[in-house]
Amino acid sequence: MQQYDTTSSLVQNYGRFALRFTHGKGVYLYDGNDKPYLDFAAGIAVNSLGHSNHDITNIITAQADKLLHISNLYHITEQEILADKLISNSIFNHAFFCNSGTEGTEGSIKFARKWATEKYGHDWVHQHGKILTFHHSFHGRTLAALSAAGNEKYLYGFAPNHDGFLHCEFNNCDTFHQYINDDVFAIMLEPVQGEGGIIPMTEEFAQTIAEYHQTHDCLLLVDEVQCGIGRTGKFWGYEHYQLQPDILWAAKGLGNGFPIGVILATYDVAQHMVPSTHGSTFGGNPLACAVANYVVDTIDNDSFLNSIYEKSDYLEQNLQELLRHNYSIFQEERGIGLMRGLKCHDDILALDIVKLLHEEQLLTVPAADNIIRLLPPLIIDKNHIDEAIEKIYRVTKKASIHYSSGE
Ligand code: PLP
Repeated sequence: MQQYDTTSSLVQNYGRFALRFTHGKGVYLYDGNDKPYLDFAAGIAVNSLGHSNHDITNIITAQADKLLHISNLYHITEQEILADKLISNSIFNHAFFCNSGTEGTEGSIKFARKWATEKYGHDWVHQHGKILTFHHSFHGRTLAALSAAGNEKYLYGFAPNHDGFLHCEFNNCDTFHQYINDDVFAIMLEPVQGEGGIIPMTEEFAQTIAEYHQTHDCLLLVDEVQCGIGRTGKFWGYEHYQLQPDILWAAKGLGNGFPIGVILATYDVAQHMVPSTHGSTFGGNPLACAVANYVVDTIDNDSFLNSIYEKSDYLEQNLQELLRHNYSIFQEERGIGLMRGLKCHDDILALDIVKLLHEEQLLTVPAADNIIRLLPPLIIDKNHIDEAIEKIYRVTKKASIHYSSGE
């Protein structure tokens, strides 16, 4: 067991890096000595419009001057405007607001179970009903979200697990056909798995899911907490595929750092979520919605989204070039848009490379499958990409020396 730091007043549930930031601007974070760090982590896919965004600061200040919180006992104009925006030109009809990705997961599971209950009855759902989920997925830290993902590493110590989930291999059509059965009333997935190691859904797998979804009375739930809100170059990650989800949830980038989450659902599903079925004290408060309105206005337009494609193509080309010069550190580059992963060779720890990148003042995020995640703010430009690539080159050289000397 790791030593517990009894001198800290904080619960020691995070493995924190030895870094402390005092302020940020655009795509840089600064420590107490004003040392800049190029931020290709963006608070784990959160600060898409950068740090200290002036417009957002002004919106927060102006809204705080009017109303922070009033409760969902009353009509909230900012919430209604945001819901209209998110469902307009979409396949969804209704929105529910919460405060985080995990809350989105929990709520979506409830939406799906309620739909199934109305269709098949309480006893059937209770005794037979299953939601099919996938290995290496991540849906948050509450008990239902952990049980949904089924990752033993995160579940250990918190038994009993929640019932009602079946787990199947991601991107494997054969095992999907083996697992899917008439008890499955919903399929739940991340279009691009994030924590699992930046694993985009394959075309073939998406087609298999779409075909099953179209021909069976089974809901499709997509978790867009990490890959949504423009991260992949489309506003939603599922739009890269021919999928028509019934429920979608998002958080992270929606508030650029101000906590907010959302569940979008079709009328067929949302009609059953009547008063007293679900709720949240803070969800959809005027302040969070005022910020999210700005974020959606900024990101959800063709010119902004196309600029993400241009930048991500440039980043991808440079990462591929880096791989060609390899220095025996990285074996693969993958991802969609500005959600990219660099896979380290098996004898090299991604976490060690992330720490070496800190010495070069570049922030990245480790993930499963020995992956270094690059999740920069969506407002980066080509110069920032050049700067990041240069820093990664320097680290690969350092690491090559380190690993070849057997340290
Ligand atoms: N779903 C996905 C795909 C995520 O990546 C995360 C967080 O990393 C969550 C859910 C949980 O979100 P939150 O930490 O906001 O509760």
